[in-house]
Amino acid sequence: MAETSVIYLFCEICGEETPHRILRGSISSDENAGFDGTVQCVPCGSVHSAHLDMEKPVKVPAIISEGSSSTKTSMELYPHELLRVGEEMMWDGHNLRITSIESGGRRLDRARAEEVSCLWLKNYDTIDVKISVVEGANTRSQKLTAAPDEEFAVGDLMDLGRTKVVVTKIKTERRMVYREGSPVEARRIKRIYTKRVNERVH
Ligand SMILES: [Zn+2]
Repeated sequence: MAETSVIYLFCEICGEETPHRILRGSISSDENAGFDGTVQCVPCGSVHSAHLDMEKPVKVPAIISEGSSSTKTSMELYPHELLRVGEEMMWDGHNLRITSIESGGRRLDRARAEEVSCLWLKNYDTIDVKISVVEGANTRSQKLTAAPDEEFAVGDLMDLGRTKVVVTKIKTERRMVYREGSPVEARRIKRIYTKRVNERVH
């Protein structure tokens, strides 16, 4: 017999969710049933009776965009799962980012899965990073494809096609980074400023 030793529950003594040892009762193998029994909080040792409803996943309509195309689908999420705009999630082997949450005709910044009438996401496996290149008196703009967790730092040398550039500053969501050796993840970058490096080719 498999023994389920510990479940996570809110403990009123500890004031937070803690591991509880099951003293009596058991988790039914029937997925529709919950748990009824007596449990003991591991950190404080207090004994509670507990009833737990097993959460069944809900189907949330979702629209996933990738480039200029979008796909309608539905995602199975736990009803109490908190979703936030800007948050990333793995789904079907892809990294997605929540761009909008619709709940009963309103747009929300955050909502529990059960309240969501449509979830808008975009494929976030790779992102386009904007780059400004200063060449003499001219500045041109271009994009670089990067993984969201790829890091860039002031002082980095990059090859943009046939142009070699050095990163001079990085604009993030909150500030401008001028210091060398402070890497910034691509997902935080608004724009990378670079200048062309003149090389003598042998
Ligand atoms: Zn406790």
